[in-house]
Amino acid sequence: ESFHDVDMGEIIMGNIALTRYTRPTPVQKHAIPIIKTKRDLMACAQTGSGKTAAFLLPVLSQIYTEGPGEALQAVKNSAQENGKYGRRKQYPISLVLAPTRELALQIYDEARKFAYRSHVRPCVVYGGADIGQQIRDLERGCHLLVATPGRLVDMMERGKIGLDYCKYLVLDEADRMLDMGFEPQIRRIVEQDTMPPKGLRQTMMFSATFPKEIQVSVYDFLLSDEYNWS
Ligand code: AMP
Repeated sequence: ESFHDVDMGEIIMGNIALTRYTRPTPVQKHAIPIIKTKRDLMACAQTGSGKTAAFLLPVLSQIYTEGPGEALQAVKNSAQENGKYGRRKQYPISLVLAPTRELALQIYDEARKFAYRSHVRPCVVYGGADIGQQIRDLERGCHLLVATPGRLVDMMERGKIGLDYCKYLVLDEADRMLDMGFEPQIRRIVEQDTMPPKGLRQTMMFSATFPKEIQVSVYDFLLSDEYNWS
């Protein structure tokens, strides 16, 4: 059992070595191969289980192996927008939604470790902090965005973020996001007409618990041939 069981490419393997993670945790062992084969995923995982790396490693690995093509298209697009609005709108390839500022920052820190020496630039936005500063950081480029739902909706309404090219969607601590009343914002983000629909994006959902509301979200947001739970 090692991270070498799945080929995640040179950059990721090098960055794993830098973090000194020696062996994948159970959730990493199960989730990484599923995500690498481009399937949607619903995983029940607690904080401390290593779930952050379980989605960041395969998502970043996929972005690296696909090369900069999609990212370049997105940059071209923002150059056009640039002319129109005088400001750069960013089109992240990957979006991670998290319930709190603390969790968003933790995910962002881990993303920076794994994106080291790559063309992928992670950004983080969350409520309760200066939006101007977050906008200036976004304008420097954003390929992987970590966000709390309310602040992301705000950024979208200000024309700072477009999700047209967002191929990877992660809903982290989904049960907590619903408990905190973020369902309208999540639906607004995921179901708006610019985000690629399920089947054209890859969706990964992580939740500590699996109540009815989460089952409904899985049905609404994830692509699956069969839903088999009781
Ligand atoms: P998480 O559940 O994603 O919040 O991760 C909990 C903690 O475990 C974090 O501090 C990670 O840096 C650490 N961690 C994640 N995966 C591994 C691993 N395979 N080996 C050792 N530590 C890990």
